[in-house]
Amino acid sequence: MKLPAFSYASPTSLEEAVALLATGDGEAMPIAGGQSLMPVLAFRLASPSLLVDLRRIPDLDRIRIAEDGLHLGALVRWRDIEDDSRLASEFPLLAAAIEHVAHYQIRNRGTVGGSLAHADPAAEMPGIAVACDARISVVGSSGSRTIDAVDFFLGPLTTVLAPDELIVDVHLPPWPSDRRWGFQEFSRRRGDFAMAGVALFYDEQAGCAANAHIGIIGTNDRPQRLSAAEAVLNGRVVDGETIGLVAASASDDVEMHGDMHASAAYRRALVGTLVERALGHAAAIDPAERE
Ligand code: FAD
Repeated sequence: MKLPAFSYASPTSLEEAVALLATGDGEAMPIAGGQSLMPVLAFRLASPSLLVDLRRIPDLDRIRIAEDGLHLGALVRWRDIEDDSRLASEFPLLAAAIEHVAHYQIRNRGTVGGSLAHADPAAEMPGIAVACDARISVVGSSGSRTIDAVDFFLGPLTTVLAPDELIVDVHLPPWPSDRRWGFQEFSRRRGDFAMAGVALFYDEQAGCAANAHIGIIGTNDRPQRLSAAEAVLNGRVVDGETIGLVAASASDDVEMHGDMHASAAYRRALVGTLVERALGHAAAIDPAERE
């Protein structure tokens, strides 16, 4: 379908962009990579009167590793993350997850801020943000605020953002170099959105798991943390028995929906399998050893 008619603005500062959105009276929308918004317009799921292109705003495309962790500007593209070799070694869970986003052409344009604002429940970046306790900084006409990722997503394609608020930065806390982690997802074809996906990590204290974080995508209306499964993992030696217990708890604990792609029962079983594989990767246990 042809796109609806809209005006177009290409501001060169955040202030100008926010002012344009504020005067749009809810009828203006930001556009970054356009990889989700263009299909939304083509399907007439939105008909904004004005598109505010963010790409000429300086400094929003920066990747910064600082003492307080990792800062990703809203305009950082999937390709920028892939191409930054520091991230593969210093934030390996993020780098591993982004490999699963869509196809090369989409990764060349799609952005971190666009993905978080679009809030697809099966998207990798929202899942990483929730799993890693990320904080999302936004700017609007009434000032700036920082929102915990876990409070940011309200449901499919719905967030706490006001119409005149822009995501500017996503902050992930520091990542210890000896942290154990795993990312697994399943989709019908490579590059498709995940039917289910798991991002997890834990630290080790006296040979046992501590500070366990387990995030899930694709199973419900927004990314989730599995606190019951995290509690099972914390304090245990990560061996085959623990992996089985955590996977069973994750499968029981997860909030689940079924759709045209897979039933709720199938997805529940899938989550157990993905958690088992991700934890096996984290603990560097060969699957054959767990038999
Ligand atoms: P846009 O399309 O420009 O915008 C998306 C939404 O975010 C719009 O509502 C826009 O108004 C808003 N927005 C954009 N930037 C900001 C900002 N800074 N502040 C506030 N609001 C903002 N994604 C995945 O995660 N995994 C996949 O497997 C995957 N597969 C895909 C397959 C296909 C065929 C396609 C077309 C897309 C796929 N995507 C997937 C989506 C892709 O990653 C998008 O690039 C991403 O979701 C949106 O980023 P964008 O920069 O293109 O945002």
